[in-house]
Amino acid sequence: MINVTALPAFNDNYIWLLIDTENSQCHVVDPGDGEVVLKACQDNQLELTGILITHHHADHTGGIELLLEHYDVPVYGPAKETIPSLTHRLNENDTLLLHSCTFRIIETPGHTAGHIAYFCKPEQQAPILFCGDTLFAGGCGRLFEGTPAQMLASLTKLSALPDETCVYCAHEYTLANLLFAQAVEPDNSILEQRLADIKILRQNDQPSIPSDIATERATNPFLRTDQAAIKTAAEHYSGKTMTSSTDVFATIRRWKDNF
Ligand code: ZN
Ligand code: FE
Repeated sequence: MINVTALPAFNDNYIWLLIDTENSQCHVVDPGDGEVVLKACQDNQLELTGILITHHHADHTGGIELLLEHYDVPVYGPAKETIPSLTHRLNENDTLLLHSCTFRIIETPGHTAGHIAYFCKPEQQAPILFCGDTLFAGGCGRLFEGTPAQMLASLTKLSALPDETCVYCAHEYTLANLLFAQAVEPDNSILEQRLADIKILRQNDQPSIPSDIATERATNPFLRTDQAAIKTAAEHYSGKTMTSSTDVFATIRRWKDNF
């Protein structure tokens, strides 16, 4: 079995451990804080066997050096970004075999120029997606280096993954994202129910992650730019006529930046 465990870090980051329960080996995704990962490995008697990176930001890469001092392991990451100590530079559709699961690389530029996501379909388990700061539960990453068209294309690729795919994003932003989503789409009853559920989870200090692709498609405004209600909301916000999904996306992304 493959098990994915959250290690909370900093204010609102999740570092993900991908654990092979048969042999207690693990990979870590986006170790912004190395101490957190070392402690988790020690406490749970896990051997770190590799590091996966989605993009170059320090809250996703800051712990690499410390981990390499303790474990001599491969470091996988995006070919199109400059990240010290990468041993394997990955591009679209590259594959890597981790704990008998084949992960496929999906290039997801937008938050950063070379951002990648890792996707796999384990046997007899729901598919797994590590998407860094591209797709969040109820939202998406800010556009630091990419264009709205690039980010929309990246999100469209992720949105096409199987419904039951577990979405492991890198931040606990869900509540704020859903409050924004509700401002954009107040008549979405699935969204309303999700917001109520997440409020209870967060009041009890439970993580809201993983999400799944079906839920995101039904409630995340950034995956719903083709919906009439979202287009109308974007037009009201901007006072302009929206002529494409990219227009709608760019408008609601800007709206969220100022929300
Ligand atoms: Zn980031
Ligand atoms: Fe981040």
